[in-house]
Amino acid sequence: MSGKSHSEDPDHWGPATQAVRGGMTRSPFGETAEALFLTQSFVYDSAEAANARFAGEDPGYIYSRYANPTVKMFEDRLALIEGAEYCRSTASGMGAIFTALSGLVRAGDHILASRALFGSCRWLLTEYFPRFGVETSVVDGPDLTQWEQGFRPNTKAVLIESPANPLLEVVDVAAICALAHAAGAKVIVDNVFATPIFQKPLTLGADIVVYSATKHIDGQGRVMGGAILGAHQLLEDSYRDILRHTGPALSPFNAWVLLKGLETLELRVRRQTETAAALADQIALSPHVRATRYPTRKDHPQHEVAMRQMTGGSTLVAFDFGTRDKAWAFLDALQIIDISNNLGDAKSMAVHPPTTTHRAMSEADRLQIGLTEGWVRLSVGLEDLGDLSRDIDRALHAI
Ligand SMILES: *Cc1c(COP(=O)(O)O)cnc(C)c1O
Repeated sequence: MSGKSHSEDPDHWGPATQAVRGGMTRSPFGETAEALFLTQSFVYDSAEAANARFAGEDPGYIYSRYANPTVKMFEDRLALIEGAEYCRSTASGMGAIFTALSGLVRAGDHILASRALFGSCRWLLTEYFPRFGVETSVVDGPDLTQWEQGFRPNTKAVLIESPANPLLEVVDVAAICALAHAAGAKVIVDNVFATPIFQKPLTLGADIVVYSATKHIDGQGRVMGGAILGAHQLLEDSYRDILRHTGPALSPFNAWVLLKGLETLELRVRRQTETAAALADQIALSPHVRATRYPTRKDHPQHEVAMRQMTGGSTLVAFDFGTRDKAWAFLDALQIIDISNNLGDAKSMAVHPPTTTHRAMSEADRLQIGLTEGWVRLSVGLEDLGDLSRDIDRALHAI
């Protein structure tokens, strides 16, 4: 390694310093930017050195399915930003969620989750885990009585998302963690909508935090990635072997892109959220809009819980036009904001969830999470507020 050696503990750095310097290791060339170690494997000075590496006596790298220096820099930096002891990354957010769940359960166990879940998570619970003898069930996330009654003697894992996709439903993370721990279950929180900037589930009692790094962490529409964060021992015991032997490894190239994304994560998320809050207020005033969902607005159904556990709003806003025709007319009239299912991007994007991201759900299931035909989800980007505001105004008038 090259460059100044410092004795300062990065755990004590402020978040901005952690975001640009956390996890950085320099090669002997002394590069300023993080190096991209695009290599599959590693070489050893001798047969004896290879033996020591494989025996775990020498901590160096072996193979990039196990670990890679660029990937490690991304993991260490994200762990610092999250305030987590340890981080392991995956090739996508779903890779992180699947790994996180599968490491906690065996045949005969039960997974309990909130009903408003990302579509692929629902598939894991309803279609996939039951194939291997794992029971699953869902409850209405904000209803603590349903949670109390939902635990079974064999419940080992809880999966929640807050705010949840697409209507920004908020669940009481601390209360659910307390119930889960009393029942002997571990809690996984999908923190994509809140980002590490506005919510720290580990401090609320969660055992594991998962991210789709594809969203705000990249934030510029380029690569897929995922992360699992929590206590070092728990992650080692639950996931080390699964990650090694099932192969969801994050590509070093993608890790490098995400690592650079982390440098500007806070700046982007704060700016996007400021703009989103202003647009939410503008949209709520339209006579075409029957309901607006934004965590820091007083009319959010779980506003108080949101304010207790989050330090900011969200880059996403959801609003209900009442009918699909009006929702589609709004989307089709937008000239700057793209129609896209992605979120957390520098470019603003809007989508009609009932016919896209949530079309695989039955109508009955959609109604249970309140997703009627008129909802639009807007992911606010980094464009000028004035331009986005004008675009939305134009689209509202076109309805
Ligand atoms: C996108 C997303 C995922 C899945 O992440 P991928 O990177 O697309 O696999 C999971 N949860 C939430 C809330 C998401 O927005």
